[in-house]
Amino acid sequence: MSSSSLAGSLVVTGRSASAKTPPRWQAAEVIEILEEAPDAVTLRLRLDETDGFLPGQYYNVRLGVLGESRAVQRAYSVGSSPLPDPSVIDLGVREVPGGFISPRLVRDLDVGQHLEVRGPYGRFTWTGDDGDPVLLVGAGSGLVPLMAMIRYSAAVGRDVPMCLVCSASTYDHALYRDDLARLSDEHRWLRVVHSVTRDPGEPRAAYHRRIDRDLLAAVLDGEVPPQAYLCGPPAMVEATVVALTDLGVDPSRVRSEKYD
Ligand SMILES: Cc1cc2nc3c(=O)[nH]c(=O)nc-3n(C[C@H](O)[C@H](O)[C@H](O)COP(=O)(O)OP(=O)(O)OC[C@H]3O[C@@H](n4cnc5c(N)ncnc54)[C@H](O)[C@@H]3O)c2cc1C
Repeated sequence: MSSSSLAGSLVVTGRSASAKTPPRWQAAEVIEILEEAPDAVTLRLRLDETDGFLPGQYYNVRLGVLGESRAVQRAYSVGSSPLPDPSVIDLGVREVPGGFISPRLVRDLDVGQHLEVRGPYGRFTWTGDDGDPVLLVGAGSGLVPLMAMIRYSAAVGRDVPMCLVCSASTYDHALYRDDLARLSDEHRWLRVVHSVTRDPGEPRAAYHRRIDRDLLAAVLDGEVPPQAYLCGPPAMVEATVVALTDLGVDPSRVRSEKYD
């Protein structure tokens, strides 16, 4: 990890995909657990070793599974900004009912325990260097890497316009809702639009259905963003790529990550 001063603000460079030393497994200490939603937590971890990471990247987490000799691993995105301190990472984890790993991460960990992690990985990254406005669309835990991009933008003082469309079952299931409300109050460059699928009367949501073409058209109101980042379940991501392309967004500038 290195940081430098550019045009008066801090910028980050992370481990590149061509970095020579592959990341190693390390035991990261759980230093805080934040409840983000009834089914989701932030695990704040302290890393002993880090070359930094870029907003949007993820770490693999591995756990032993009772009755199995080898460990099972899953990917979890970092929801925090690499600045000011890339050795502290917030992994956002939403419980998938019946899953091997996520229920244990959400329910069974305590502060002071250690978790085996390896990373960072991923090319779904954004640093805003090109200055182009960006549309972010996230559903469920797909919000996690998008939050890292927003927090990074705030940490380095970027004023690149960002519009986040956030889909959750209810407003209380929307990850980072309080932090997003605070950040959008503080920063004119950030607009946050909530849509909830299972609470038709929720006043804090602008929309009360799944993300679809008409919803995106209404949010954009004729302004075609030069780029978009999408993250969430495969069906949502695929439908949103089609919808945005139909609305005029250059498909070569739509980046996505699917959580299946
Ligand atoms: C790049 C990337 C980044 C990610 N980032 C995040 C993140 O930031 N936050 C987050 O919460 N998630 C994230 N994910 C998803 C995460 O990696 C896991 O896939 C998720 O937590 C589920 O893992 P699990 O072990 O709990 O469930 P799994 O054990 O993988 O099970 C998933 C589902 O399949 C069902 N299932 C399992 N085995 C069977 C079977 N034999 N027959 C029928 N059904 C079965 C389970 O009941 C469950 O509903 C990310 C995924 C990717 C690829």
